[in-house]
Amino acid sequence: MLWSPQDRPVQSGTYARQRPLWSWWRRLSPSRQDRFAALAPLLSVLLFLAAIVAAFWYLRNEEVEREVESVKRDAELVQQQIRLRLIENQEQLVRIAREVGTRTINREQFIGQAETLVRSRPEIVGLTWLTSSRQVVARHTPPDMLTAMPRLALPSGSDDPRTTEGRAVFNDARDLRAPVYGRPVRLDDHLVVFQVHVPVIDQGAFAGTLVAEYSVESMLRYFVPAEVSRRRVISLVDGDDTVLASTVAGAAPRASTPLVYSVAFAPVGNGVTLRGEGYRTSVGLIGNTLFWMVLALSMLTLWMLLGTWRHMRRRLQIQGALVQETNFRRAMENSMLTGMRAMDLEGRITYVNPAFCAMTGFSEAELIGHLPPFPHWPHDRLEENNRLLAQELSGRSPAGGIEVKVMRKDGSQFDARMYVSPLIDARGQQTGWMTSMTNITEAKRIRDQLSASHERFTTVLEGLDAAVSVMSVSAAQGTELLFANRSYRLWFGADSHWHARLVGSGDADGQDAEDAIDGLSGLPTAEITDVGSDSREVYVGETQKWYEVRTRYLQWTDGRLAQMLIATDITSRRHMEEAAALQADRAQETSRLITMGEMASSVAHELNQPLAAITNYCNGMLTRQRNGTLSGEDLIGALEKTSRQAQRAGQIIHRIRAFVKRSEPQRQPTKITEIVEDTLELAGIELRRRNVAIQSYVAQRMPLISVDPILIEQVLLNLLKNAAEAIDNASLPPGRRKIELRVTPRHDSEIGGAIEFSVRDSGPGMPEDVIKRIYEAFFSTKSDGMGIGLSLCRSIIESHRGRIRAENLYNQDSVVGCCFTFVLPVGHFAETTKHIEQS
Ligand code: ADP
Repeated sequence: MLWSPQDRPVQSGTYARQRPLWSWWRRLSPSRQDRFAALAPLLSVLLFLAAIVAAFWYLRNEEVEREVESVKRDAELVQQQIRLRLIENQEQLVRIAREVGTRTINREQFIGQAETLVRSRPEIVGLTWLTSSRQVVARHTPPDMLTAMPRLALPSGSDDPRTTEGRAVFNDARDLRAPVYGRPVRLDDHLVVFQVHVPVIDQGAFAGTLVAEYSVESMLRYFVPAEVSRRRVISLVDGDDTVLASTVAGAAPRASTPLVYSVAFAPVGNGVTLRGEGYRTSVGLIGNTLFWMVLALSMLTLWMLLGTWRHMRRRLQIQGALVQETNFRRAMENSMLTGMRAMDLEGRITYVNPAFCAMTGFSEAELIGHLPPFPHWPHDRLEENNRLLAQELSGRSPAGGIEVKVMRKDGSQFDARMYVSPLIDARGQQTGWMTSMTNITEAKRIRDQLSASHERFTTVLEGLDAAVSVMSVSAAQGTELLFANRSYRLWFGADSHWHARLVGSGDADGQDAEDAIDGLSGLPTAEITDVGSDSREVYVGETQKWYEVRTRYLQWTDGRLAQMLIATDITSRRHMEEAAALQADRAQETSRLITMGEMASSVAHELNQPLAAITNYCNGMLTRQRNGTLSGEDLIGALEKTSRQAQRAGQIIHRIRAFVKRSEPQRQPTKITEIVEDTLELAGIELRRRNVAIQSYVAQRMPLISVDPILIEQVLLNLLKNAAEAIDNASLPPGRRKIELRVTPRHDSEIGGAIEFSVRDSGPGMPEDVIKRIYEAFFSTKSDGMGIGLSLCRSIIESHRGRIRAENLYNQDSVVGCCFTFVLPVGHFAETTKHIEQS
């Protein structure tokens, strides 16, 4: 388990007080504690090293002291032996000198004794008898030394050191009358000798000396015991520290070393010393090896400790990072809404996160350690869950997860999706399975709703009587039919060619559609901005059908720009419309005929007047002709009048013919005054018959309007006739029998710039229920009325994109008349036509 410093057990205050070290330790930060913990072994290794060094130093000193002692002993032993030998030799020499002095022996006997002496004393390399004047009486030199030893005494004045020394020693011996030792003298590289002069006393007088010459080198060779020479270097050194001889050839003087011990070379004296020197080789070597080994091991330990320390620091850093990562993951795990459940390889729950507990309502304790069947399995789905678990444990769970029902603690259930992934430990071995669980109840509900709505949508689309298709219009990818409903497939097959053709109004390759695409943005400039879609009626020759085609651009599900087309079969509607239009034409014509039929008596009356006038003029002319009173001028005058009346009758007939003449509805730029004049002309006949006055007003400077003049005249005539009939039927007094026609420009909120025609009468008006029904076909309140006049008027006005309305005129509360108003748009035609003055 990972622990943080806060997790450490807290010691009681008393305990801490008792142990200041512990409380100091507790006060340290964890990193400092780690540093100290790492420092302790380092310190102990250093202490160990110091102890070892001290021990070595002590031992070495001990050893040196012992060695010094031993060297001293050895040197003194050697010195002792040499001294004894020299004294012994001296005694022999004194004896021989005495015998020489007392003349007990002669020269030959001396030689003989010398030979004997020298043979047993290899250190003596020459024995000489000198007279008091230093003359050699006899001399003996061992045969092996003959070449090496030159004659003893040299003529005075010679500066040979040996001779000089010999003279000095001789003189000393003579003066002291006692044996005197000379200083060692080097004869060659290997031979250093010193002399001892023993005075010869003859009857109390000095009679010369016996000179024995010792080889220093031989002395060392014969008097230094073998074991001593093995252990030590024994040398003889003179006062100038020059090595005279040594047991080891070429030994250098090392006076300063502690292992050197010098002892006076008695009885020779003269500053010559015997020096013993310890080798110390074995002690030093062994000591050093051990020391260096210990040192090397300590260094190795130190190095390894440092390595361990650094390693530990790295581990600590990693551990810190790990703790951070673990805390991060734990926080993430605790905060997320996905339930997590871990199982070992047997299916035992080993871990659940808070979200899992929150989702299921079971606590961690109730779930962890549980073997299947788990408490969150619905009771009726144990078998299914067992099967899924087996699948899970065998690692065969689908990557996309599995959908299961999960039971909460309160027994309610929800839909969940579970994803399974293997749990791998640090060694790479699988230790179990990790399952993540999300509540998909809401998602599932939405999905179900979506699929149901999609199904409904498809059903509606498929069931539509219209062909619906979607085609991609991307220039790069070409055209592709993205969707086609059943009607489209049925009518045109699954082919984008028809889509393009319907859009392009028969253009087989849909070139128009592509040309309409803006080069910059790839979107059709005009149509894409339209919120709605314009419909177009297209005739397809192959199927002999009319289609109403609506298109609009949309973004397809994959983001591509696509064009949707809805084609409705309008063949039958088209046929009906055509029939209706024909019908309307006929109705208008019929209505005009009816109007004329209704006006027949008025027309007859109207025609009657000129005809009567013509008859009168003719009769008058006949009578006067017969009487003979008709002058030529009178005749001309009467004929002109007759002709005018006939013209008038002809005009009436012409107008009626023009009005009822069957012609195709034709719009043309028309002067409003012309329409008004022609109408008043026709209406005048009826109005005069009904004794109704008319007042008309047409505003000045009116524009041309694009209408079918006959149809507008028909409307106006109908309104005037209805007004006259209403006045006439109400039998109003002459003062109230009048109609007013006004034509003025005005602005209509719906259709914009317009011309308003209004017909006001002073009749009885209309009841409310009549107003509501006046535009119904065949609605009439008159016994002989056809009831199609106003319904036709409305269809004519609306076909000119105009509006018609009817209202009663009031004087306070009483109805004083009726007003019919219709407006016609001036429209775009008027904008391009200059205003002309209406005359
Ligand atoms: P008809 O004139 O053949 O009855 P219309 O369609 O011209 O058919 O008129 C329908 C009805 O509207 C008339 O029967 C009449 O009742 C009413 N009506 C029309 N104009 C007027 C008017 N100016 N005053 C009163 N009622 C009118």
